[in-house]
Order: sequence, then C-alpha cells, then structure tokens
Amino acid sequence: MGLNDQWMQRDLAVLWHPCTQMKDHERLPLIPIKRGEGVWLEDFDGKRYLDAVSSWWVNVFGHANPRISGPIKAQLDQLEHVMLAGFTHSPVIELSERLVQLTPAGLNKVFYADNGSSGIEVALKMSHHYWINSGQPGKKRFVTLSNSYHGETVAAMSVGDVALFTDTYKALLLDTIKVPSPDCYLRPEGMGWEEHSRNMFAAMEQTLAEHAHEVAAVIVEPLIQGAGGMRMYHPVYLQLLREACDRYGVHLIHDEIAVGFGRTGTMFACEQAGITPDFLVLSKALTGGYLPMAAVLTTDNVYAAFYDDYATLRAFLHSHTYTGNPLACAAALATLDIFQQDKVIEANKPLAARMASATAHLVDHPHVAEVRQTGMALAIEMVQDKPSKTAYPWQQRRGLQVYQHALSRGALLRPLGNVVYFLPPYVITPEQIDFLAEVASEGIDLATRSSLSVAVASDLYPNHRDPG
Ligand SMILES: *Cc1c(COP(=O)(O)O)cnc(C)c1O
Repeated sequence: MGLNDQWMQRDLAVLWHPCTQMKDHERLPLIPIKRGEGVWLEDFDGKRYLDAVSSWWVNVFGHANPRISGPIKAQLDQLEHVMLAGFTHSPVIELSERLVQLTPAGLNKVFYADNGSSGIEVALKMSHHYWINSGQPGKKRFVTLSNSYHGETVAAMSVGDVALFTDTYKALLLDTIKVPSPDCYLRPEGMGWEEHSRNMFAAMEQTLAEHAHEVAAVIVEPLIQGAGGMRMYHPVYLQLLREACDRYGVHLIHDEIAVGFGRTGTMFACEQAGITPDFLVLSKALTGGYLPMAAVLTTDNVYAAFYDDYATLRAFLHSHTYTGNPLACAAALATLDIFQQDKVIEANKPLAARMASATAHLVDHPHVAEVRQTGMALAIEMVQDKPSKTAYPWQQRRGLQVYQHALSRGALLRPLGNVVYFLPPYVITPEQIDFLAEVASEGIDLATRSSLSVAVASDLYPNHRDPG
C-alpha cells in the first residue's frame, strides 16, 4: 500500500469532509497532500498537481511562497493573537489603513470576521441595524440575484440561491426577495453582454420600486457569480444598481470574497463600474490564501449611525473570537506588498490573454456552449445539446470525469457541475496555462464522448462546490 492509501484510510476513519458525499470515496480516492510549492501540490506518493482553482479560489501567489510565509513566521515570534476588543496591534492597523486606501473612495471603516460567510453575516446585520438606528426598523429584507452564492451560514445561505442546496434548509432561511440574474450565458442569441445586463436591470428596478420600504440592502457578487457556475455579467448592471440603491434608499453590499484582489482584471470588481458600495466584503485571496480572514469595509455614514453613548444601545455588539488575528493580518500585508511590488494587475493581462488564446478552439467543440472570461477567471460550459444549450442531467456527473482525467494528468481542475473553469494562482506561467488548456480539452472530449459514460449514483446530489 502506498503512503497516499495509508493516509487516506486513516482519514476516512475519522474525518467528515466539506461539500462531499462521503460514500463517493468508496471509489474516488482522496488525495493526501504532503507539500505545496508555487502552483504545485504534491501528494505522499510524489505525484504533483497543478492547482488550477487556487485551492477554492484563495491562493493567488502560490503555495509556500516565502514572501508570505516569511512575514507570517516573523509575526508568530512577535504576537500570535490578542483579542481585538479593548486591544489592538500594529498589523491590524496597517492592514486597515491599506485596505481603506486601496478600495474605492468612501469606504473608510474596516470590521473583521474570520471567514467569508461570517463577513456576509456582518454586512447583513450591520445593514439592518443601520436602519434600526436610523428609525426605519421595517427595512429588514434583502434583495438577491438568482444563482447567487454568499456562503454557508444560515443568513448567508438565505441570500444565496443554489436550489438543491438551500432547499434542504428552507425552513431555516430568511425571507429574501429574489431577482433574475443578469447572467450573460442566458442572453438572447446575438445580443451583447452590456445590452443584456442593462435589460435585466428592469426586474431589479421594479423590485426596488415595490419593496424599498422593507428592504435593507441588495447583495450581489459583482461581475462573476462564482459558485453558481462562473456566470458573468457586464459592469453596467452595477452602475445602474448603485444609482437605483441611492434613489430608493437601500444599501448595496458587494460580496467580493471571490472576485476581489485582481480576479476580474482590476483589483476590485467595483472599480470596473466606477462605484462605491455601502459594504464591501473581502476574504479568500485577502491573505493570499494562507490564513482565514474576512474584512467588511463600510462608509463613514454607516459608522456614524452606530456611534453614540453606550446607554443608547446603538453599538454593533458583534464579535468573532479571532477577529483581526495578527498572523492573518501579516499574511494579508505580505500579499498586498506583492500586488504592489510586482505590479500584478498589469502583469496578469498577458496571462489572461493566454488563457483566452489557449482555450479559443473549444468554442467549436460540439458539446461546449460557451467559453467565457472575465480577467483571470475563465469558464467552459459543457452541454448535452449545443444549439439549445441543454445542460447534461446532473446525475451524469460529467464534470467529475473531467476532474478525474485532470488528476491523472497532474492538474487540479474541479468543475462546478458542467462548468470547467480555470481560476489559477497569478504565478502561473504561459506554458502552464497551455498545459491546463490541453488537459481540459482532453477531459471535455472524454466526458462528452459517450451518451451515458458516467455511472449514475442516485444517492448523490450536485452541489455548488462538487465536481459532480
Ligand atoms: C467562498 C464564498 C463565500 C463564503 O466564504 P467562506 O470563507 O467559504 O465562508 C461567500 N461569497 C462568495 C462569493 C464566495 O465565493
């Protein structure tokens, strides 16, 4: 038995993995990773995998990068943690200063949480609480887009829309208002992204006109709906939304947990619309993917609504134990240093162009309905029938075949249902991009070749992060 198998057996005896039907591991091997270096992950039997999805979208500058791990080690010898109520420390102050300076004008206060979902909870609670403090307690509902994803905790799940996943927990969810997404995959043939996104705004406008009195905020994933299958839309939608939120007196929450830090081609997606949201939620690449942390940025106006004598009970009495952890702050500061020193946003442009050229041939594939891209995110939509864009039934788990093929070739490509995507670390080389495109093409050929090439397991259901 190889070392991989030994670790796998010990694992399966005691662990319950995230986003996994554990029974799958009766036939799908689990891959124990021993070490990482740059874009590579290496297992216990010495096999390497190119991390094409940045380990769930967090890793932007590669694994075990000494420019990030070094500062974390230095911080570790100085101060590993101190509670952030009543106390503070230099890494959290410096990080907050830099985030305020980097993000669009007007976002001047930073509140921390320890993962993306918790960051969303902070923004939702803060928004409603703002309206209470402003004498409008009836503003308590949230407007969301169809096909959106904002995390796993109950309120974050409530503002998301991954049907088979959220349906199970329906009884627990908040009462939200769902508006059709501007998702450009669904645009009429021949129409451009901008026109479609603009047209789709009509439903949002109507919803706000009708419900603004009871709505605290609209929450969106700007430009890319990630877990919903890397569906994309035009920045004009965000401009129209900002303008409408102002007109109707509703907050705008940008969940840039996945798209922040260069993924869309600009440091933050909201820059492409030239707007400032009322709440900007950041996580994932914030620490380069080294430690869990989320930051919620907001305006002086929101902050002021909470600032009063203690006895008025207007304070935001929300806390996560590890808020502002110094090690995570050190990782984030090191990550921001790399963005600055290496002019990463500029340097990514040729890489994004290479992602496009390396996959351009897939547009002609008989089972590819679309190859779409926004910056450093590229997605390939596999379909059963190309002219009608009929999706493969989820039970066939075509994406899983791509996943397995890629592993055999030394790449970690983890499709979202029928959507194969690249969301690579920015330290990937043009040649490595070509390699990924080759592996993806082969995988798509294999997965779409036969009419029923995949074992159907009726006890498995699709999930937003599941390659099935
Ligand atoms: C990953 C993600 C979240 C949740 O973050 P976690 O750290 O997994 O809780 C929320 N919103 C978006 C857009 C995400 O991609």
